Amino acid sequence: MPPTISRIIQALEPSATMAMAAKAKELKAAGKTVYDFSLGEPDFTTPEHICTAATDAMKAGHTHYTAAPGILELRTAVARQYHDRHGLEYGPQQVVVSNGAKHSLHNVFTVLCNPGDEVIIPAPYWVSYAELVKLTGAVPVIVDTDEANDFKLTPEQLRAAITDKTTILLVCSPSNPTGSMYAPDELAALADVVIERDLTVVSDEIYERLVYGDRKFASFATVRPGMQERTIIVNGASKAYAMTGWRIGWTLSPVKIAAAMSNLQSQETSNPSSISQYAAIAAIEGPQTCVEDMLAEFTKRREFVRKRIASIDGLSCPDMAGAFYAFVNVKPHLKRSYQGEQVDNSSQWCLALLEQQNVATVMGSAFGAEGYARISFATSMDILSQGFDRIEAFLNSGK
Ligand code: PMP
Ligand code: GLU
Repeated sequence: MPPTISRIIQALEPSATMAMAAKAKELKAAGKTVYDFSLGEPDFTTPEHICTAATDAMKAGHTHYTAAPGILELRTAVARQYHDRHGLEYGPQQVVVSNGAKHSLHNVFTVLCNPGDEVIIPAPYWVSYAELVKLTGAVPVIVDTDEANDFKLTPEQLRAAITDKTTILLVCSPSNPTGSMYAPDELAALADVVIERDLTVVSDEIYERLVYGDRKFASFATVRPGMQERTIIVNGASKAYAMTGWRIGWTLSPVKIAAAMSNLQSQETSNPSSISQYAAIAAIEGPQTCVEDMLAEFTKRREFVRKRIASIDGLSCPDMAGAFYAFVNVKPHLKRSYQGEQVDNSSQWCLALLEQQNVATVMGSAFGAEGYARISFATSMDILSQGFDRIEAFLNSGK
């Protein structure tokens, strides 16, 4: 018998964000200038003191396996940071460090989900959630939210989606792909339903440090008494410290769940890279001015993108409260022809924009929201400015 691929993996969709980024890279390799708004990845290099900590760790011989959930010093630093920033008490035994937040999410669903369980995922959602849930045999239940409410799930929408199989609510705030963020009272209203219906929350807080203006981020674990015991927080080094390539993410959870994830990790990957873990300690324990400097730069870009979108007829997006995405409604620009090419949906729109103007974005359909396109502004002002000129030229060419 020739080797066959398992049914579960055959059903797995590849990551659309990674696929669009790969297409953009291909064009770049072919010598084209590409205005790449596809990948949600800070364009800054990792701050110097973090890189130095990694080389110091190598020289000091920290090049071996570590404890499965990560080295104690890092887990203690993560717990301390959540205490200092959000007033939450966690011990290091409640922290599990993994190979990126994506891996953390995989761990969380693997240890919590049984086949047939239902996991509520508000749409638009980040591309990997539904696929990671499906890998466990559980069922992602996608709940559409309204643009008029900045794509935030309401307690009524949550209540209507719950069945006797529902076990988990997933929330990403600030959101990838929409950039919107729940206010503390909005999370508290969701928490009331979660408590009433005895659910667990997986709270993806990876964009926690990238919040604009005087908006206040709240961790789901803090919004009602008792929520900490039923929340698994996912966070990591990738976005706040421009460390995507180092692959360090973490969870904060009840001890029982942390122990289960640690067991899983001990069989699956042993541990995240020792060198990256030492770098992450320097990131968390070192000066936080690098985070503030990057946020200041993102703030300028966000303002530029907000103004450009507002100035283009028939283009709009929800409040960009956090993260580095604009989730643009392109519906007025569909069902049109661009240089003779008929464009009826968001996927065709993004591909035509890439082919005709070398601007890479990601189609809303990949995030469960047809009629939208995600623009990542984790790129330079120069590229943003030229890219928006091209988006405008593309839209003007539609007939
Ligand atoms: N969650 C969200 C919402 C993200 O946008 C990302 C970005 N890739 C991740 C998790 C995973 O981050 P990483 O694996 O790089 O830590
Ligand atoms: N989170 C980023 C994005 O949405 C990185 C790509 C990925 O991990 O899928 O673009």
